[in-house]
Amino acid sequence: MTHHHIALIPGDGIGAEVLPPAQRVVDAVGARHGFACTYTTYDWSCERYAREGAMMPEDGLDLLRDKDAILLGAVGYPGVPDHVSLWGLLIPIRRGFRQYVNVRPIRVFEGVDSPLRTAAPGDVDFVVVRENVEGEYSEIGGRLNRGFAEEMAVQEAVFTRAGVTRVLDYAFDLAARRGGRLTSATKSNGIVHTMPFWDELVAERGADHPRVVWDQEHIDALAAKFVLDPARFDVVVASNLFGDILSDLAAAVAGSIGIAPAANLNPEREFPSMFEPVHGSAPDIAGRGIANPLGAIWSAAMMLDHLGHRAAADEITAAMAAVLAKTDVRTPDLGGDSTTTEFTEKLLELL
Ligand code: ATP
Ligand code: MG
Repeated sequence: MTHHHIALIPGDGIGAEVLPPAQRVVDAVGARHGFACTYTTYDWSCERYAREGAMMPEDGLDLLRDKDAILLGAVGYPGVPDHVSLWGLLIPIRRGFRQYVNVRPIRVFEGVDSPLRTAAPGDVDFVVVRENVEGEYSEIGGRLNRGFAEEMAVQEAVFTRAGVTRVLDYAFDLAARRGGRLTSATKSNGIVHTMPFWDELVAERGADHPRVVWDQEHIDALAAKFVLDPARFDVVVASNLFGDILSDLAAAVAGSIGIAPAANLNPEREFPSMFEPVHGSAPDIAGRGIANPLGAIWSAAMMLDHLGHRAAADEITAAMAAVLAKTDVRTPDLGGDSTTTEFTEKLLELL
């Protein structure tokens, strides 16, 4: 029996409602696949921020360091500015643990109403690989002349050869294992220093991955193609900001943001990786027991894959597909009237 020690950070709102279903599913497949997880729960959240002035304790990263993985629900609360949860928790964990790849798979499942005109089930199945620690999300810059007519703001983006190359290598390797196609998001016509550098490095890495057919698209055109022709994509690699926008867009057009998972990976496994649904704390539905648990469950499946349990992970995604295709049990975001618990139990039944 293999043991894994998982850090759970439920966070705020529906975060605490979607993690228990994910745990139940993990424990159910673990029993069959010869592994068991123990969990340590941390109350790091905007609620903690409101109470104690910080999202997490100062030694937060040290508490997580020896865990095998981190499973996060969602952080965010009305009245607490978004940058607090981002810079107070998510970014320190991503950067502190060198989780430089953010992997976001997109699938249109049979039985899910997608707003996409062309979506036939199985057609849309691709992965957005987002650079997760540098790029546009930098602290370099500032404000000048506050309150004067000449007021201005400057924001620098930071793209390093090492930082871009490592995420590109991850994306090219992933494309080689999947359908052999990679699309790079760029905007080198308008952003004239960082994006041409990104493009050059894509071409450089592409030359070392001759089995992968790659191309590049400007981010604006790419966003349109995500909606008009999503079946053409296999792996899409993008900078931090572009990847953030594209993967939220893709999650929404796949049917519900409640399904989409994300993995913040440290591919070298020097540190724990973090798995979290793409959705936020959804204050509008929190506390009602109707949150869609699939995003958290799929994130947990990605966690198991990362921990070496590919077959267990595949069983979970197969049960997700089955519950959507073969039953009409589903939460309201997917047009049903089931609760989080009913949806989870039906999925457990099909597992
Ligand atoms: P945050 O500030 O935490 O990012 P948000 O309101 O900006 O929160 P989400 O929490 O992602 O963003 O919510 C966007 C919309 O999607 C809301 O209407 C919410 O109810 C809905 N939603 C998000 N996640 C789920 C889910 N798991 N199940 C059902 N609906 C969801
Ligand atoms: Mg949000």
